[in-house]
Amino acid sequence: MILSDKLTNKSLLPNKAYINGKWVDASKSFDVINPSTQEVIASVPDMGAEETHDAIAAADGAFKDWAAKTAKERGAFLKKWYQLILDNREDLGIIMAAEQGKPVKEAIGEVLYGAEFVEWFAEEGKRAYGDVIPTTTHGSRVVTMKQPVGVCAMITPWNFPSAMITRKMPPALAAGCTVVSKPAEDTPLSAIALAVLAEEAGFPKGVINVVTTSHSSDVGKAMCESDIVRKLSFTGSTKVGKILMGQCADTMKKLSLELGGNAPFVVFGDADIDAAVKGLVAGKFRNCGQVCIAPNRIYVQDSVHDEFVEKLKAAVSDIKVGDGFDEDSDIGPLINQAGLEKVQDHVQDALDKGATVVLGGKQHKKGATFFEPTILTGMTDEMKVASDETFGPVASIFKFTDEQDAIDKANDTIYGLAAYFYTRDIGRVWRVSEAIEAGIIGANTGSTSSEVAPFGGVKHSGIGREGSKYGLDEFLEIKYVAMGGIEES
Ligand code: ADP
Repeated sequence: MILSDKLTNKSLLPNKAYINGKWVDASKSFDVINPSTQEVIASVPDMGAEETHDAIAAADGAFKDWAAKTAKERGAFLKKWYQLILDNREDLGIIMAAEQGKPVKEAIGEVLYGAEFVEWFAEEGKRAYGDVIPTTTHGSRVVTMKQPVGVCAMITPWNFPSAMITRKMPPALAAGCTVVSKPAEDTPLSAIALAVLAEEAGFPKGVINVVTTSHSSDVGKAMCESDIVRKLSFTGSTKVGKILMGQCADTMKKLSLELGGNAPFVVFGDADIDAAVKGLVAGKFRNCGQVCIAPNRIYVQDSVHDEFVEKLKAAVSDIKVGDGFDEDSDIGPLINQAGLEKVQDHVQDALDKGATVVLGGKQHKKGATFFEPTILTGMTDEMKVASDETFGPVASIFKFTDEQDAIDKANDTIYGLAAYFYTRDIGRVWRVSEAIEAGIIGANTGSTSSEVAPFGGVKHSGIGREGSKYGLDEFLEIKYVAMGGIEES
């Protein structure tokens, strides 16, 4: 497949990194693979610490002027960028499907979801309000103001190659920060395409920089250890998040870490079972299960277990697995061989410890990294799925007895990103929402994320929030001015 042949706007594929307003190469490059076909679809610069420092210097050089603009002026650039993303949605979706494997229609959906954050923060930047705080002494005042943190580094994963960038960059830019962004090595093309559109939107040179690399630890270390970089925003695994947090300690950076999850999905006996099945299928199988808020441990109350499993089986049987460019496909392949092996390992471990396969359970006949939509029952706490996210199209079903049992099981994890439950009892909605240790709760819905809501986790799932008014605060420092000498005349 020649990717550029599929695009209307071929300029979206420069296959270069973007530093200080210039499209640049490196001495080496690395290949980008289409996971559906294993074909090489592009080669992009393989950068290291030196280029990262160049990008940081560019962001630093651009910071003062960018921060000095009004929020309305910065918002105007974001609005242009938003419109260009919408105008190029099809091409952006095609690029994403090619490098990530998800179906084009789903990829376009991600582009549109991500674009909403650009629009939201174009406006929200204006609302970085301070306070006037009543004081305890006569003749004084305390006033707070919010100011941009400074140069921000961003490291994003491959599962949402576009939206993870548009969730991070717009609040930073709206706040007056400049950015250096490193996309995942599997999916750099979506990041580059977004930078092409940012350039077209007219952002001044150095405000947005994109460094591509297959040596993510070298680039990450350069970002973390730089004293110019005042903030790191990372989305990825808990393991890497902890490494980065350690590397940032010496320069005392502000951190946002969106890390792994192990989301419980609880179906109470009084739930609308059809709605629960629908919510689970949407949340579990989207992006082939490669979503940090995907339900991983599905807890179903004894009384409705069999009915739920039967209805789930009927729904999951309809899911079509295939190439992202095949219009019939509902889900694509897993991102790479390591992803496939992890899913296989989780399934095998469950089977070895007594689980039952209701549907699927093995590599799909299409080969490569395609996996069958799978349902397992008879899950127990000793199985790997109970403590580690599968990141694949496997619905693993556990049983529970009563409300307290469900809460205990849901909280029996080091993670705390998303949690879901279905019940028609309004009192229970409150009790369970309050008792579950997670940053995001879906009560009678499997769909939780939008630009208006503060996405983020607790416990080992991370620090900070993305989206909403809280997402802007992540890129702002609060300063206060204690004013004296205001004597009455
Ligand atoms: P996943 O399991 O989703 O691939 P990772 O945490 O490995 O999650 O990757 C998320 C992002 O972190 C990617 O951009 C990847 O390149 C980057 N990354 C991985 N290891 C490191 C590291 N040691 N330092 C900096 N970035 C890293």
